[in-house]
Amino acid sequence: MNTPEVISIGNMLVEVMRVGVDEPLDQPGSFVGPYPSGDTPIYIDTIARLGHQAGFIGAVGQDDFGVCLLQRFARDGVDASCVQTLADHTTGVAFVAYFTGGRRQFIYHWRHAAAGQLSPQYVHPEYFSNARWLHLTGCNLAICESARQACYFAMECLPTGGRLSFDPNIRPEVLSVEEIREICQPVLDRADVFLPSVNEAMMLTGASSDEAGCRSLSERGKLVVLKQGASGCRIFYNDHDIQVPGFAVHEVDPTGAGDAFCAGITVALLEGMRPEEAGRFANAVGALAVTVKGPMEGSPTRETVHGMLDAR
Ligand code: ATP
Ligand code: MG
Repeated sequence: MNTPEVISIGNMLVEVMRVGVDEPLDQPGSFVGPYPSGDTPIYIDTIARLGHQAGFIGAVGQDDFGVCLLQRFARDGVDASCVQTLADHTTGVAFVAYFTGGRRQFIYHWRHAAAGQLSPQYVHPEYFSNARWLHLTGCNLAICESARQACYFAMECLPTGGRLSFDPNIRPEVLSVEEIREICQPVLDRADVFLPSVNEAMMLTGASSDEAGCRSLSERGKLVVLKQGASGCRIFYNDHDIQVPGFAVHEVDPTGAGDAFCAGITVALLEGMRPEEAGRFANAVGALAVTVKGPMEGSPTRETVHGMLDAR
């Protein structure tokens, strides 16, 4: 069995998106896709593109959308030996519409798709024998009970000394804030690196601001990196609070930037970069990710990231 250095787990989806802006999903219109997607698939594919051994635990259906995802993993070198192909389910799909001002609308088919069938039996402890990093997201804790238990079990399989990163990436429309806090708590407690977006630190900790929430978690010994879109990121650790400015790029498609950014942080820390340096590296990864249409189409290679870092 292959034993990757970085592992993630969760919903494998293809994304099908509106061609133009302001085309709501309750009207006929044109779509483009399928594009390989899913928050943790984007993360793990970016890890592979950045040159680290990456492996994924998930499920697709026996259909061409599944093939689309598996071909992408194969192209970029993500180990898919723990991805199941299920004969009785179709591959998960997300339909996305974009509106003026940046608002996005999603329709997900995942809970009753192959993605929603994930359970602890898919998680093989031997797969983790050389794992140095596991990445989990709140979104996958929220899909359904069995997927949640699979994520919790993956956390137990991480060897001592392996680091855990956690991106809440949760949409409050799916669950109440109380439920979100309850399901995220065990992962948040164990996480070494916490990677919230705006509002998520506040929501998960119950603090009065993101800043207060991030600070309270950094006081518990975690490295906290608050993602701030075009503004870059803000890093909290020990008693440091450092703003790391983003890179100016032309944004074509914001979806997936957060996941690519999390991969950038992982790779940078695995390679021993200091937190500020890791923030700058990940800002470049996130900025490059938004310059191409499609959720993981813009995930950069190491050469492209260095090209951006060296140009500034
Ligand atoms: P999502 O969940 O939609 O993938 P997110 O909310 O988790 O995104 P963002 O803060 O939108 O994450 O983006 C992650 C990182 O990507 C930012 O911290 C920044 O480094 C980079 N980034 C995102 N958007 C831009 C942009 N328009 N210009 C430059 N960098 C960007
Ligand atoms: Mg996010």
